[in-house]
Amino acid sequence: AKRAGHGDYAIFDPSMHDVAVARLALQTDLRLAVQQEAFHLAYQPIVDPTTGEILSFEALLRWEHPILGKITPADFIPVAEEIGVIREIDRWVMIEACTQLKKWHILQGRSTLRMSVNTSAAEFVDPAFLDNLEAVLASCNLPPQCLELEITEGIFLHPSPQIAGIIASIRQSGVRIALDDFGTGFSSLSYISRYPIDTIKVDKSFIDEICSLESTYAIVNLIMGLGKALGLKIIAEGVETQDQVIKLVDIGCTAIQGYHYSKPMSAEEADEVIQQRVLP
Ligand code: C2E
Ligand code: CA
Ligand code: CA
Ligand code: CA
Repeated sequence: AKRAGHGDYAIFDPSMHDVAVARLALQTDLRLAVQQEAFHLAYQPIVDPTTGEILSFEALLRWEHPILGKITPADFIPVAEEIGVIREIDRWVMIEACTQLKKWHILQGRSTLRMSVNTSAAEFVDPAFLDNLEAVLASCNLPPQCLELEITEGIFLHPSPQIAGIIASIRQSGVRIALDDFGTGFSSLSYISRYPIDTIKVDKSFIDEICSLESTYAIVNLIMGLGKALGLKIIAEGVETQDQVIKLVDIGCTAIQGYHYSKPMSAEEADEVIQQRVLP
């Protein structure tokens, strides 16, 4: 085994195949990373497809592990939830994302630019969450309307009787709420009818098929109509091709996120893209 002030890796050891050992090491390292704030954010633009204008950015968490290199949030966020550090991480993300947005508002003169931040269930149902949120917005001097919290259906499974109250007070504060990965869960429709959310993000798994499967295209078309009827903003995510953009514009989609426009990028790269104002 090898020690470098990090978790104990059995790198030259047959037991490296032991998933439990690797997991334990990852937990240790993640705790350390939280203490040292060893994360950074990548920003992916959300674009108006008819003008190419950047409407907002989604802040996406990045962790460069000292030995293992880049680890995707899909791999380490479940671990962070397990060991109870996800709320600390979410709070760090919130401060970092809001600070960055404020810089863009001032330096780039783009005060309508918005930021989307992923919010874990644990953080969302924390009684201190709204106070924290308002404190961050106030200290960055940002209007709450600039911030959109992305939540997933998992939030509704969390044991909190006050979920409707939490959503109501967040929206009362002016902060917007988006339902992420829409369509992948069991009860997407029932949630949008029961809770007052602002935005739904149509999951990539649907977008992937809109050009090849007539039935999926029909479903996405239906979601667009539903959005219009309910006054919801619809964002299509994971859009990778021009053909998908054309189909989406056809059915009235006004906000697109995906590799077709841009992969998530550093704040510095985003600086330049914002200066260009529009994306091809
Ligand atoms: P998500 O919220 O659904 O984020 C979208 C993911 O799709 C991101 O992966 C993004 O890089 C990727 N993506 C965007 N456009 C495309 C595309 O056109 N093609 C493909 N193949 N992928 C695309 P990422 O950054 O690896 O994040 C994975 C998940 O980790 C996120 O899914 C979100 O659930 C979670 N996550 C990321 N950052 C945070 C965070 O700060 N806090 C929390 N609680 N969760 C986070
Ligand atoms: Ca998201
Ligand atoms: Ca998503
Ligand atoms: Ca997702």
